[in-house]
Amino acid sequence: MSDPRIVFAQHGLGSVILEPRFTIQVSDETSFGVWSRPNRRILIFSDNYLDGTLTNSDGRIAGALGGHPLQLLFWGDWWNSAGAAKRGLVEERTKALLESGYFSELTQYGVPHAPVWRGSLIVTEPAPPSFADDADDFMNEVLRMVEDHLENHVFPDPDDGPSILFVVLLPDTLTLGFGASGEHGEGYDVTFPWNDDGFWVGWIGPGQPVDPPVGGDSSLMKTLSHEVVETLTDPEGTAWRTASADRGRREICDAGVSVTGSFKESQTAFVNGVHVQSYWSVKDNATIIPIDSGYQAQLKCHIREVERHIVASGWFRPTEEDNRFCRPELSECCMADREYEWRTYAIKEVATISVNAQRYRRTDLTWTINGHTFGAVPNLSVTVMVASYSGRSLKVEERAVTLQCKVTPAGLEITSSGGSFAIDVGCSVRERDITGNVKLDGGGLVATPQITVGFNGSQLLYDDAYTGQITACLAAMIRRYNVQYKPSMRIAPEEGVNFSMADLLRDIPAYVRPTQYSGMQWIARAAFAAQHLDGLENSREAIRMMMAEAPTLARNIDLRTLKAEAKSAERASHQRPREANRCSSIE
Ligand SMILES: [Zn+2]
Repeated sequence: MSDPRIVFAQHGLGSVILEPRFTIQVSDETSFGVWSRPNRRILIFSDNYLDGTLTNSDGRIAGALGGHPLQLLFWGDWWNSAGAAKRGLVEERTKALLESGYFSELTQYGVPHAPVWRGSLIVTEPAPPSFADDADDFMNEVLRMVEDHLENHVFPDPDDGPSILFVVLLPDTLTLGFGASGEHGEGYDVTFPWNDDGFWVGWIGPGQPVDPPVGGDSSLMKTLSHEVVETLTDPEGTAWRTASADRGRREICDAGVSVTGSFKESQTAFVNGVHVQSYWSVKDNATIIPIDSGYQAQLKCHIREVERHIVASGWFRPTEEDNRFCRPELSECCMADREYEWRTYAIKEVATISVNAQRYRRTDLTWTINGHTFGAVPNLSVTVMVASYSGRSLKVEERAVTLQCKVTPAGLEITSSGGSFAIDVGCSVRERDITGNVKLDGGGLVATPQITVGFNGSQLLYDDAYTGQITACLAAMIRRYNVQYKPSMRIAPEEGVNFSMADLLRDIPAYVRPTQYSGMQWIARAAFAAQHLDGLENSREAIRMMMAEAPTLARNIDLRTLKAEAKSAERASHQRPREANRCSSIE
């Protein structure tokens, strides 16, 4: 196994998002890009339904520092029977809502804290009405029920501690003869005439699904979030509101509607798994939803060879150049004077790039390759630096390559043939479970992960005998260097290194995968050793040529032999006396 390799992206996405752009190749087949996160913590909508100017006429606000207690009241025996499962879900979602960051932007209205869970109670006495046809009468009936409970000391006096937010949930058996899914109001506990404080109640109408249907904009939790936010910012109808003549358009959640022609849609999203409505933010001059942290997306690439054929093959006899390191003390670098076989291959590879998205409920994906938006066209032509073999020599040139692209349920599938090259694949990952018109400038929970994908379409392979010779030569150089100079293989800067391994290994393209890259690291190490060896100090040109061939050599050397060599060399060096360290750089 080779160590993972890190590859930096060549192309930006042309966006202003400053995120690191690199790819970790964990194996020759599998690589990962880095996580990308939306650049906003707040969803901002591009339109709204605010009617008039929002002002506060010095009324009361739910401003308790530690948050006001929220009490659910499930009205009717129905919640014990047919409605029991729905009740459980409402409780679960409400707790999740209170724990979310949804209320965080209400600080601008003087609400410093989200409400805190107080509990839930099923109310069977009095029984709920089965029909209501007047909104005001019905609100009064709900207030009376809560007042009964206060008088019976089921709940503490409204004066004790921060006011309780009562949320009354109506059973599905109730029929409302007027159009409203919820409302909030306040009442006074008349048996305690010395009270200044009222109690705050919101009700949630029957027949609403707790969570919306896929793509829907209405739900019980949307209504609940709406009524709770408005109870916090305008509990007694005297605080944050507009002077609208329309009673359904006066408070901050009433603004959370997008209107497109005759189409009206609530502005909603999910926070901590709960469907909520947007609210007006004076600060942003727009309707907003504070979203969860933890939205992030990452690309993963799996690449596989699907086809290979021989392009050319031949035999060669080692030349003077092949023997550039041959000398009596490095006999391993003297190639046997015989014929060796070589072959070049053209390889077809398929890369499948998948998205790992966290927190997203449903994603909308838009793919790009080297910044080009990829559409329904199956073929995409990109101009890249392409490396390919012409006979035994590696040729690198800038030219267009054609990629076959296909969007599948598993992700983006890219098929390539013809040469080795790298491309940067980007994906715009957008949350689909948002309703209403979201501002386009990154306001839509968009992550833009990227990954660099290298296709290895051209290979040169030597026969085993030649590979064995090269490996033995490299191993001999490293061993000789270790024995002669360097007990540990660390490079000390004071040695006057005129040739750095880091420089050598910089900008190696992404199609050089971990195994091959490890090979190149070994060759660089051998080259470093070579320039310090007696008789090789002046072999700068030979070393340069060796490194030029490194990608090819790396594919052909036998890493396992090299590693075994290094291990035994290191073991031998550890047994040497410490003095050896001090004179290691004396030549
Ligand atoms: Zn409202």
